[in-house]
Amino acid sequence: MHVIIVGAGIAGLAATWALARRGIRVTLIEQDTVPGRRAASNDHQRLLRHAYPGQEGYARMVRHALDAWSNLWHDLGESFYHQTGSLLLSSRDNDWSDRSRRELARLDIDFDVLSPAMLSERYPMLATGHAREGVLIESGGVLMAQKILLAIGRYCESYDVSVLPGTTVTHVDFDSARVRLESDEELLADRVLVTTGAWGGDLCDAIGQATRSVRQCSLYLDPPPRFTSAWLDAPSVVDFGSDDAIYAAPPIDGADGARLKFGVESHGRVESPDVSRIPEPREAVRLLQTVGRYLTDAEHYEIKDLRVCCYSQSVDQRWVSYVGERGVAIGGCSGHLFKMGSVVGRGLAAWATNSVSGPDLVAWLRGSVTHASLPEQF
Ligand SMILES: Cc1cc2nc3c(=O)[nH]c(=O)nc-3n(C[C@H](O)[C@H](O)[C@H](O)COP(=O)(O)OP(=O)(O)OC[C@H]3O[C@@H](n4cnc5c(N)ncnc54)[C@H](O)[C@@H]3O)c2cc1C
Repeated sequence: MHVIIVGAGIAGLAATWALARRGIRVTLIEQDTVPGRRAASNDHQRLLRHAYPGQEGYARMVRHALDAWSNLWHDLGESFYHQTGSLLLSSRDNDWSDRSRRELARLDIDFDVLSPAMLSERYPMLATGHAREGVLIESGGVLMAQKILLAIGRYCESYDVSVLPGTTVTHVDFDSARVRLESDEELLADRVLVTTGAWGGDLCDAIGQATRSVRQCSLYLDPPPRFTSAWLDAPSVVDFGSDDAIYAAPPIDGADGARLKFGVESHGRVESPDVSRIPEPREAVRLLQTVGRYLTDAEHYEIKDLRVCCYSQSVDQRWVSYVGERGVAIGGCSGHLFKMGSVVGRGLAAWATNSVSGPDLVAWLRGSVTHASLPEQF
């Protein structure tokens, strides 16, 4: 069997890993470098959180993703996950964090509720005056995204994997698994998997109609010395119930580039993934103002980097997929696929090897609760 995979972000690389370890021949095609230089997956950190209010299928998928990550660490001989815990800030009844707390209880995921006084005592570096409570989940943490992509690439060198960097696919026939390259050369395989993130609509109309590319800017900071150790011990922080919808990844000691990072979901804007990735001054100023509201002594933080990235977003934040006779495309990963990358790669590999049907794969990727245990069949 031969499988062509288009796109070397986490979905494409994890599918490559899952197929290669089963002895299946893979051709991995990427328009940029491998891993993709402009891939949404290619950043220092990505958060893994259990909270998914109103999307129980994804909340359940996180557990399967953790199992699949453990398998990956075993194969790679090294873990790239740091369990920091996750802190959800809630400022009003029934906001995102409040609904998360109820769902976590229903799913038997342990958490502690922190009062405003406990929040300011434990996290003096955070300005949490607006929060009426915090929900601290011990599990969850930070995945070292770029290191994972590079390590999977190295792992695949010992398997039957051909990697074609700098190669753009211009057309995919999802029924015959035929792929056309920019050079007009055509490649034929038994199956094709299209995991092209924000570029999803270029190769699959159904994905293009259901998703859009959204630009996000992330801010990397060094804290002032008096807060360095507090941040090194901190959990990730999520406040998706606020108007800003902000999150922070704590720095990871000794991990290059894994600095304190902030993102503000509400600042995302629809934009082609092919436009300039240089942060605009107004974008940076707005980001700094918003993030500053969450920091004690914000003016003493040092800005180390600003990075622009694009991801594929669907209207309801659920992933969309298209399944033909011999090909699958996925998109709409909406800022939350990296944490599931390990198990999504396995799911795509399971479909390619006929272990899972197309309709089941589509329902599972949509976060259907009734399909949540599907990975047990992979
Ligand atoms: C700022 C930001 C923060 C995020 N934070 C989190 C988080 O904390 N936790 C989490 O779980 N998720 C997070 N996400 C979402 C997550 O990063 C993405 O959902 C995930 O990385 C998408 O992976 P992918 O493999 O589908 O796509 P990508 O990583 O975007 O990879 C797609 C690849 O396809 C290549 N490609 C495209 N078109 C072609 C073509 N025609 N021919 C050849 N190659 C092609 C691209 O060059 C690219 O390398 C975040 C996203 C952003 C932008």
